[in-house]
Amino acid sequence: MKLFTVTLGIWWFASSIIPAYAAFFNGQNYVPIGDWARANGLHCAWLKHGDELVATNRTARLVFDVDSHYADINGVQVALSFPVANQKGVALVAQFDLDAAIRPLLFPSRYVKPAVIRTICLDPGHGGRDTGNRVGWHYEKVYTLALAGELRDQLRKAGFNVILTRTRDTYVELPDRPALANQRGADLFVSLHFNATPAGKDEVEGPQTYCITPVGASSTDAQGEGSNHGPTPANRDEDESLLLAYQIQKSLVQNLDANDRGVRRARFAVLRDARMPAILIEGGYMTHPYESRKIYSTAYRRQMAQAIVKGILAYQKLTLPPPPVVPPATNHHPAKRGGKSSATHPPEKRSSPPRNSTADAGF
Ligand SMILES: [Zn+2]
Repeated sequence: MKLFTVTLGIWWFASSIIPAYAAFFNGQNYVPIGDWARANGLHCAWLKHGDELVATNRTARLVFDVDSHYADINGVQVALSFPVANQKGVALVAQFDLDAAIRPLLFPSRYVKPAVIRTICLDPGHGGRDTGNRVGWHYEKVYTLALAGELRDQLRKAGFNVILTRTRDTYVELPDRPALANQRGADLFVSLHFNATPAGKDEVEGPQTYCITPVGASSTDAQGEGSNHGPTPANRDEDESLLLAYQIQKSLVQNLDANDRGVRRARFAVLRDARMPAILIEGGYMTHPYESRKIYSTAYRRQMAQAIVKGILAYQKLTLPPPPVVPPATNHHPAKRGGKSSATHPPEKRSSPPRNSTADAGF
């Protein structure tokens, strides 16, 4: 990997300080993690010199591993689009990943649009002639529908409207699934799946949660999506989707005491046309000898539904709009999307320096 240094006259990253240099490789601007951390009120130190770096403050703990495509953010693995680097003993991270994978999680009040969640669209994966994964006599489509039914009941108890892309063993085309959520004005879209692996069946286990890949980056899992890295409708809500995926993944891992397979990125057909925060949960591995038994049990799916509800509530807590102080005098329409007016959307959020240096975050 060829690495070279460029001097930048003015370089705004997460704060208004000007670092001495940045690096450019992988086609990306890289910045020293230590500089970024200090500018954002985090203390930075090597855990393993030259290899593993930690940035901490009162509420956040971020661990970066050199050459890794993941960052550990308060105990949850979050996929990066470009690997962490070490240049002459200085750990570097792509500015792209600070913008697209770190800041929305650390500073949701600044980077995530506020909105009230009223209607949630659940998408039980597969159905009808599409069985999904098959392990012995177990079909994925059966367990995604069972989980969706449990989750629907729990979300309704929590006060949400819930719609499903299918309620029976029927085949629904992939584009029709987000299309239904769009037509019905859903505020969130949650697709439910279970995983399988041909290799390492005894070792590979645990949930993983996907959200849309940022524009210009490759997906964590790019099956069948081709080389088009351009914008999709879902990219409009990519920060919100990332925060939702993170909160749900964290809740799944903590509440199920499960192995963390991370927050990942993909341009899945059911995600890319969604016009609301949209995620896809792979709830665990049907090929794992122990996890599969849990997936096939009603009690465990109930626990999993509870964990997903907790994740959604944690996301809602971080994204609630501030209460109105005075009734608006103008002809403001309340909100099909719960008050997502342009007034609450930061106009230049990717280039605006933060207003303070304390992580407000969702931890
Ligand atoms: Zn599936």
